Amino acid sequence: MKFTELGLAPEILRAIADQGYEIPTPIQAQAIPVVLAGHDLMACAQTGTGKTAGFTLPILNRLAAGKSTGPRKIRVLILTPTRELAAQVEDSVRTYGAHLPFKSLVIFGGVGINPQIAALKKGVDILVATPGRLLDHAQQRTVDLSGIDVLVLDEADRMLDMGFIHDIRKVLALLPKKRQNLLFSATFSDEIRTLAGSFLVNPEYVESERRNTAPDLVTQYVYKVDRERKRDLLVDLIKEKGWYQVLVFTRTKWGANGLAEKLLKAGIEADAIHGNKSQNARTRALANFKTGKLHVLVATDIAARGIDIDELPHVVNYELPNVPEDYVHRIGRTGRAGSEGSAISLVCVDEHKLLKDIERLIKKPIDVMAHPGYEPDPTIRPEPIQMRSAGARGGQRPAGGRPGGASRTSKPKAPARTAAPAGKPGSGAAHRNGSRHR
Ligand code: AMP
Repeated sequence: MKFTELGLAPEILRAIADQGYEIPTPIQAQAIPVVLAGHDLMACAQTGTGKTAGFTLPILNRLAAGKSTGPRKIRVLILTPTRELAAQVEDSVRTYGAHLPFKSLVIFGGVGINPQIAALKKGVDILVATPGRLLDHAQQRTVDLSGIDVLVLDEADRMLDMGFIHDIRKVLALLPKKRQNLLFSATFSDEIRTLAGSFLVNPEYVESERRNTAPDLVTQYVYKVDRERKRDLLVDLIKEKGWYQVLVFTRTKWGANGLAEKLLKAGIEADAIHGNKSQNARTRALANFKTGKLHVLVATDIAARGIDIDELPHVVNYELPNVPEDYVHRIGRTGRAGSEGSAISLVCVDEHKLLKDIERLIKKPIDVMAHPGYEPDPTIRPEPIQMRSAGARGGQRPAGGRPGGASRTSKPKAPARTAAPAGKPGSGAAHRNGSRHR
């Protein structure tokens, strides 16, 4: 199937062609017709599957098809768990809407609220927001949500993990009852199903084929190493192999800071991003990493979630994640959109069970490599793994990971296509000045 067969407006097809895309990804091919038809949607899709365009393209199409009536009002609200993801989603809205007159805005916490208030006043069609800051605006009455036609919850599983459930419910209460709802989540736990059941109306269900499988283009391997020697091994690997753009995952914020410092001391350009860093520091680190000025970016799962870096060559799991599905999310940063990548895990004796769980999830063993001089000491006994530092993830997942995340058998009952309501009329087109407010 080609994009041209999906019934999208010529302006949108032009923007897609500008990006060099011809073929919709599986999630796009499934989701776009459902959203165009006005149905509610429940989509199981991870980052890297093209999910953002999966909802952005048909939403833009619906706006473009609608008639403009009265002053500009926010018609589309996209909620994301993190600031970085919010910024990236709004980037996509602007990219795909480049030839349309709509105005988009991203708002998130950690930066001044006044420029956001000024931007909101000027009028916005598509608002991308993190829940906390959106509620701040709602409380101050600086945002008008009464014209929302379409709501998207992106990475809903992360939002719940981060403890946003109450915020989401508060936002839902502020929206008009009659609207189209789209929920995207990497996995479907009971919690997600409960949330979905509370606001989706006869949703159609679509699922990306990459669910819980490692991307084909990623070469994965494990170095077994003693817990105390991981830092030295990482320094040696980066230097010996000449890795220049490495995303390194740690379990905790303090672990990320300590590792970045150690790498800097070893003469490797490194920085850390996590929730305790100011938004400016995070944005700067990410920009430096993207341009190659920074060779290593050390990140916690939450900070790294949704980061879209084209052709990222190396991902290192300095510590394995506690939840196996996070391994797939992490290595999804590399081997994207046709480029090859490598995912390296440094595994100490404490993590052997986590490694087994990951191999069970991805349904294949990961090759073990030896690095001379770093052979593990067989006399070292496993110790309990220190959990994430408080606040690193807000709410903790239940032990054993997200129920429903591991296999297709746990797929939520997909409502029949015929059960979906008739499409709503498109919303009015309005003027977009193309400017970006942050
Ligand atoms: P996402 O899952 O939305 O984060 O998208 C992952 C990456 O795939 C992004 O870099 C997109 O720009 C890219 N992408 C999205 N749709 C397509 C497509 N149809 N063909 C090729 N690349 C795409």
